[in-house]
Amino acid sequence: HAKHLGGNTFQFFTDNLQACTLERLQLENQLRKAIDEGQLEVFYQPKLNLADDQLNAAEALVRWRHPQQGMVAPGEFIGLAEETGLIAPIGEFVLRQACRQACQWQRQGLAEIRVSVNISVHQLRQGNLTSLVRQVLEETGLAPQYLELELTESQLLDNVDSVIVTFRQLRELGVKLAIDDFGTGYSSLSYLKRFPVHYVKIDQTFIRDLSPGGEDAAITRAIIAMAHSLELKVVAEGVETQAQMDFLKSQNCDEIQGFLISRPVEAAAFAELLRAQRDHPLD
Ligand code: C2E
Ligand code: MG
Ligand code: MG
Ligand code: MG
Repeated sequence: HAKHLGGNTFQFFTDNLQACTLERLQLENQLRKAIDEGQLEVFYQPKLNLADDQLNAAEALVRWRHPQQGMVAPGEFIGLAEETGLIAPIGEFVLRQACRQACQWQRQGLAEIRVSVNISVHQLRQGNLTSLVRQVLEETGLAPQYLELELTESQLLDNVDSVIVTFRQLRELGVKLAIDDFGTGYSSLSYLKRFPVHYVKIDQTFIRDLSPGGEDAAITRAIIAMAHSLELKVVAEGVETQAQMDFLKSQNCDEIQGFLISRPVEAAAFAELLRAQRDHPLD
């Protein structure tokens, strides 16, 4: 208790707390407005399938086009959105937008793109995620196997039982499931076996310092072998260099995602990437 530290400290503590609360309230109100006024946008980052060098998937990543501050990254507001419950309308927006977009790219004959959407455990706890997903797939016309949902390993480990129940339902629907940021949350082989997922995404921190013979290379190699032995596919994220890509290819990693391939881009720019691939295969 700050009170025990003396009068001045207590005063300092409450002032600080109030400033902080005010800032958060302002951000929360702005975010609410952003949702209502359509300031949120979905960017897409491609995944490259290493077996055939084709862009075969895209991760949907939310952005906030703030009227004064310009483009705001999700790291600035997803945490608050989770605490305030605003993650529900944000998540629903991204899900609907991403499914609509993937379906449109397919209909335009650009590519059979699988789109992945990040979900927060708060959406899962609301209890209606499965019916929301079913409804959005029907409404947009996207076949379920082209939708992937990503949940971070740390959120998953904090909510094991409810996650397993919902994941079984989603899997039943035909949707693909992924564990995001894998390797940071004290995962064990037995845990991985318990979750009915299709993909494991190796966390960027392991990819960043990949050097042959180093510790991160050993961990990456182990994750890939472990996942493959459980018949899961592996995606490496945060791939920025050719050397990282070569190493991952040598370890039979299935897909890579990172600035080496492309940064997350607007839908129109993503369509250009697909068009280039279709019209100039393997350039
Ligand atoms: P994530 O799901 O792990 O997404 C990958 C993040 O890594 C993205 O950051 C992406 O821009 C970044 N990244 C990709 N390749 C590279 C690379 O080569 N180098 C580096 N340094 N970074 C790379 P972003 O878009 O800022 O998103 C951050 C996090 O915010 C995401 O991490 C995800 O956890 C969360 N997020 C984003 N959109 C949503 C959403 O719609 N719903 C929820 N619940 N969370 C979201
Ligand atoms: Mg993700
Ligand atoms: Mg990740
Ligand atoms: Mg992350």
